[in-house]
Order: sequence, then C-alpha cells, then structure tokens
Amino acid sequence: MRALVKESAAPGLTLKDVPVPVPGPGEVRIRVRKAAICGTDMHIWRWDDWAARTVPVPMVTGHEYMGVVDALGEGVSGVRPGMRVSGEGHIPCGECRNCLSGRAHICARTQGVGVNRPGAFAEFVVIPAANLRPLPDAVPDEIGAILDPLGNAVHTALAFDVVGEDVLITGAGPIGLMAAAVCRRAGARHVVVSDLNDDRLALAMRMGATRGVRADRDDLHAVMDELGMREGFDVGLEMSGAAPALQAMIDNVICGAKIALLGLFSGPPRIDLNAAIFKGLTFEGIYGRKMYETWHKMLALLESGLDVAPVISHRLPFERYAEGFAAIESGAACKVVLSLD
Ligand code: NAD
Ligand code: ZN
Repeated sequence: MRALVKESAAPGLTLKDVPVPVPGPGEVRIRVRKAAICGTDMHIWRWDDWAARTVPVPMVTGHEYMGVVDALGEGVSGVRPGMRVSGEGHIPCGECRNCLSGRAHICARTQGVGVNRPGAFAEFVVIPAANLRPLPDAVPDEIGAILDPLGNAVHTALAFDVVGEDVLITGAGPIGLMAAAVCRRAGARHVVVSDLNDDRLALAMRMGATRGVRADRDDLHAVMDELGMREGFDVGLEMSGAAPALQAMIDNVICGAKIALLGLFSGPPRIDLNAAIFKGLTFEGIYGRKMYETWHKMLALLESGLDVAPVISHRLPFERYAEGFAAIESGAACKVVLSLD
C-alpha cells in the first residue's frame, strides 16, 4: 500500500510502498478515505527536537483520518466491514490508575497513532477496536477526518461552564477557530479571539466570534469597554502556545477566572504567575479528548448543526501531500485534508 513514511531521522516524509498492516487480536483495519495534516505532523515533517525524541523511525505518520472498516482481528465483535469510522488517536494502556478510573485521556503510557505506532497517512491503518468511533450519516467524510482537532476544541471549550460567560480565546489556528464556534453554540455571551494573522481573525468572525483582536496591535481593554465587559473575561482558552498570549490572558481575565491550557509552548514560558495567584485563577491542562465523552458531545454537536467546515482551506489528493505541508508551513493554509479515495 502507499504510505507517507518518516524513513530516517531527518526532515521530510516519503511516499512509498509498504506492507498492508494485519489486524491483531482485538484490532481493526480501516481503509483510509480522508486524512488531515496536524501541527504534530508538521513537527515530524520538520524533525524538530520533540520529534527526534519521540518518534522511532521508520514510521508511517498521520493520525487525523476517517475511512471504512476493512478487516477484523480475532475476537472483535460489534463492528462490521464497511462501517464509516474515525478513530481516537491516543491508545491508552487500559491498566493504570487513570485508565481504570475513566480518565484514559491522561494515561501516562498512551501510545499515539502516527507517532509511536503506524499511522493513517496510508491506504490502511490498524487500531484497537475500542478506539473506533462510528460516524453518523450527518458527518461528511472531510469532517470525519478532522474530529481529532475538533475533539481538542470541544474538550477545551467545555472544560468550564461558558453559558452566559465572556470567553477569550488566544490563537485562531484550526483548534481555536473551532473552539470559538463551540463556545457560541454552548451559550457564551462574547467570544473574543486573538491572533497575529488577519485572515485567521476574519475566519474567527465566520465561526461566530464576537470580535477578532490583533494580539500585537489591539488593546484588549478597549475591546472589553466596547463590549460592556467591566471586569474582564470569565473564561480563557489558551490555544496559541505563545507565552505573551497567556500573559495577556492572565492580565485580562476577571479575578477567579478559569483558564484552560491547550497550546503547547516551544519551551518553558516566562509568565508572571504571581498575577495569577493574586487573581485566584484556576488553570486546567487539556490533553487530547476525553474517552469517550468528548467524542459523544462532538458528534452530537455536529448532528445538531455545528459547522466547522470553514476551517478546511485545502482539499488535495494524497499524492500532493507536499503542497499541503508547504501551505501550512507558509501560513497560507488552515486545515489541509488529503483524499485517498
Ligand atoms: P496553530 O499553530 O495552527 O495555531 C496557533 C495560532 O496561534 C496561530 O494562528 C498563530 O498565529 C497564533 N498565535 C501565535 N502567537 C500568538 C499570540 N501571541 N497571540 C495570539 N495568537 C497567537 O495550532 P492549532 O493546530 O490550532 O493548535 C493550537 C495549539 O494547540 C498548538 O500550540 C498545538 O501544538 C496545541 N495542541 C495541543 C493539543 C493537546 O492535546 N494539548 C492537541 C493538539 C494541538
Ligand atoms: Zn493507562
């Protein structure tokens, strides 16, 4: 089968033929139809320090995808070939304290599809049957391919109660943009989104944001005044991974605010934590998606009309993957979906 492989410990990926994977006991093989490029894939493509430390080579990459069930391993029940599915990309150990307590999303021994085990930039991918998520008819294939990042957005946006609250989202990448739509649907009053890129801020308005704010130019206090917010934002969703964005968030939330942290910093961020202490803030780190509460809510939100299609900027055949990576690298792309069908 054709697969996009990190062949050696160096930048780039290679489209090549590799053997079709065979599902082991409890596993399912999926014929991939659509796959999307994630920030994590960009790290692996560039081969930065994180990738070099984390990804064994050779490795078939990719973990955002949908497809149809193709073959079942021994002992799998309740799944039939032909089912349209997506898959949770984190494979928890199933045995640790968190796994046994319904918190598998923070299993310390998680394996990542396309990171530590063969991934979905390929004609076929094998995952544990427990990680399959059947797709409702209302979810089109290309949206099925971006449920992994939508799940990050839903998990973060619903970490705290946003009903009637004013929410600040820092970072209008695909995840921040989808989180803006989720917050609006979940009943937030104002959703202000900050970024450094005007196109992304325009997209934020399409996704239902109240205001797009240039983090490097606009004054958040002035925006708060305009919107009639006297004391600050009630909830913050940090989705940029930029330390100045987190600092601006701490400085502009109300005392007692809640902040969910999804963005990954390239190194330890320099933050004035005293300000957070004096304000009595609550922080929650967000990793992945809750298994499987986030999936349930996300699919239900899509079935009831949540529209995240505007974040897909590029639709390309699989062979033109390099254009997709280049478009993301240049900042021209938001979400890139590759077709294998
Ligand atoms: P992205 O890189 O496409 O988006 C980040 C956005 O932040 C960009 O649009 C960028 O212009 C903007 N930005 C940069 N500096 C800023 C600043 N000072 N103020 C405001 N905005 C600023 O990323 P994405 O795919 O949307 O993912 C968002 C973040 O979440 C990334 O840091 C990613 O690594 C992280 N992530 C975390 C998890 C998790 O499980 N915790 C999962 C997926 C992604
Ligand atoms: Zn575990």
